[in-house]
Amino acid sequence: MTSTVRPTRVLVAGGGVGALEALLALQDLAGARASITLLTAGRFLTYRALSVAEPFGAEPAVRHEWEQIARDRGVRWIPDVVTRVRADEHRVETRDGGDEGYDALLLAVGARPVPVVPGALTFAGPRDVLAVGEALRALAAAPGRRRVVFVAPSGVGWTLPLYELALLTAHRARSAGDALDVEVVTREDAPLGVFGATASEAVARRLADAGVRVRTASFATEVADGAVWLELEGPLEADLVVALPRLSGPRLAGLPHDEDGFVPVDRHGRVHGVDDAWAVGDMTTRPLKQGGLAAQQADVAAADIAARAGADVDVRPYEPRLQGVLLTGGDPLYLERRPTAPPTSTAGEGFLWWPAHKVVGRRVAPYLESRG
Ligand SMILES: Cc1cc2nc3c(=O)[nH]c(=O)nc-3n(C[C@H](O)[C@H](O)[C@H](O)COP(=O)(O)OP(=O)(O)OC[C@H]3O[C@@H](n4cnc5c(N)ncnc54)[C@H](O)[C@@H]3O)c2cc1C
Repeated sequence: MTSTVRPTRVLVAGGGVGALEALLALQDLAGARASITLLTAGRFLTYRALSVAEPFGAEPAVRHEWEQIARDRGVRWIPDVVTRVRADEHRVETRDGGDEGYDALLLAVGARPVPVVPGALTFAGPRDVLAVGEALRALAAAPGRRRVVFVAPSGVGWTLPLYELALLTAHRARSAGDALDVEVVTREDAPLGVFGATASEAVARRLADAGVRVRTASFATEVADGAVWLELEGPLEADLVVALPRLSGPRLAGLPHDEDGFVPVDRHGRVHGVDDAWAVGDMTTRPLKQGGLAAQQADVAAADIAARAGADVDVRPYEPRLQGVLLTGGDPLYLERRPTAPPTSTAGEGFLWWPAHKVVGRRVAPYLESRG
């Protein structure tokens, strides 16, 4: 007997790791009960996490074409930008003048980087590779002893890329015999303390071995007169200062948001006060903006939508497991914090998960692995 029930129309809007994990999870969990349309602002899924190695000569990270992914997964693809959600009508408006209906809307539109330390170079991923690479090369060519300072300003949750830049810089300077001091200024109490004590201590050892000095609980306010100014300590002389950006939410018309533009969600990813709309990843009010966590949120939201579509799935609320790979110039360090009670903090040079992707997603990592 064939079913006469109309499949739930799910619109997945985004274009990053959250959107891809959501698509794969929905197909896995809802099967034919969901008819999926994918709407992405960009033509490519870019793997931003690997861009930290590019200023040091690594190949640009592989980009995956959304058109090919959509064809491969058998879903409709719309290259466009959501400009407004008309939740009462279950429709979104798009930049190209389109108007798309849905039964369930899953948003993963990310956040926008905002420079916050005046006078510092900002590193927010691929767009800054050239500028930061050139500045580091110029510093290496300059005479005498020099100092480069990497800054994690307050309000930045995911600081791992900063430690990678510092370690990779120190590694290159040491290999070339450069007289370069590398320092990190961070608002954290311990380097990558978010991973827990064991992992953080392993990171601190790596930094010490590489000769990178870390100033914790330190707040950089601006770069001026050849120094980075620290709120409590005063000026720290620096020849180059590179800072992470703060993120700003998408302020999507028709959706609630906090003062920074981020969308509030519950533990299933449901948008507060909006029926049939879910949001995951960097665009939400969740403080830690990280690709692996975006993928875990996407899995939860997809399961919730699949259950609404009538699939027999176990919907478990979001319980984040934090996983990261720290590039060091030598062996990478694998870091993990599991949501046990009390939390388990682990660090190691061997793989702690497989595939050993830098952005860990239950489905997204094996899928991208399979596509090369
Ligand atoms: C330098 C750097 C290193 C990092 N390292 C790691 C790491 O090692 N591990 C890790 O897990 N995470 C890492 N991250 C964080 C990770 O990249 C992000 O947390 C992750 O990409 C968030 O995924 P997302 O799907 O929420 O958003 P994004 O990846 O930002 O994707 C959002 C997508 O939505 C599209 N979009 C925007 N607006 C609209 C719209 N209105 N309509 C339709 N589409 C829209 C955008 O074009 C974009 O493609 C790193 C980030 C940076 C910058």
